[in-house]
Amino acid sequence: MTNFSLAIHGGCGVMAKLDLSEDEWIAARRDLGRALEAGYAVLSGGGHAIDAVQAAVVVMEDSPHFNAGHGAALNENGIHELDASIMDGTTLAAGAVCAARHIRNPVLAARAVMEHGDAVLLAGPAADHFAEAQGLAVEEQGYFTTERRRLALAAMKAHAAAGTRASASESEKHGTVGAVALDQHGHLAAATSTGGYNNKPDGRVGDSPIIGAGTYARDGVCAVSGTGQGEFFIRHVVGHEVAARIAYLGEDVKTAAARVIMEDLKSYDIGAGLVAVGADGAIAAPYNTDGMFRGWVTQSGQFHVASHDLVLPYEPH
Ligand code: ASP
Repeated sequence: MTNFSLAIHGGCGVMAKLDLSEDEWIAARRDLGRALEAGYAVLSGGGHAIDAVQAAVVVMEDSPHFNAGHGAALNENGIHELDASIMDGTTLAAGAVCAARHIRNPVLAARAVMEHGDAVLLAGPAADHFAEAQGLAVEEQGYFTTERRRLALAAMKAHAAAGTRASASESEKHGTVGAVALDQHGHLAAATSTGGYNNKPDGRVGDSPIIGAGTYARDGVCAVSGTGQGEFFIRHVVGHEVAARIAYLGEDVKTAAARVIMEDLKSYDIGAGLVAVGADGAIAAPYNTDGMFRGWVTQSGQFHVASHDLVLPYEPH
């Protein structure tokens, strides 16, 4: 049995089973597995939770299958505006960037903001300039674009024109990536990265870079990373709400996470999900959509990945 834990998500805006070929499903699950491997390597080597969540999120940002980094959503003007954050549960130090247009791995910029210490959240061109000054890779917009996101933007514009946005598929609408970890030293951390939702207004910022909403970690309590329409995650301060239920009501992480996703957010009829890890290493991954890209490593060291109901074993390389 390990005394550390890791869980990831690739967003609850998952495709219907028939929308991807079997090869594409295999490739997406493989990238989830690779993200788990990256985080697990840090944790099993005695490294810190904050480095594990960062490593896992970088893999998913680099994958075209998830809505973050390469493969991010396009806003109403066909522009990528990227949001990300990271939080260290030990010190409550946190960093975030929002509406960045050029940072290849927004989670690395969020980490640099955290390490720098002056600000918690940098926005827009200032975030891009900061990342570049820190020596992080920057890219032209075209790097982030995939054919799937172009089609999703066209579909969402058609829905907007026809007044049928509510009937759009979850994958046409949105997605996000995130990771939570408990390390061997008992420390917790969380990180989240996203392109937001397809056809979002220019300059719109979601919950993912908002500490307490899309991302939260506090040693002794839990670490949380969310996915779903960010406006509601901000209003319900979802990450902190899960932590508050555990800290103040004494709920376990599964009960607290399910309560917030399945009950508190229920009446809005939005897709929503999260991954969370408790101070005891227990993992929760509730979602109210047809599926959520997700994965975790059990305390006996077994890797699991999933997109819909069926949870599959993953063989690390
Ligand atoms: N939470 C993200 C946002 O609102 C989108 C998502 O996770 O689906 O920007």
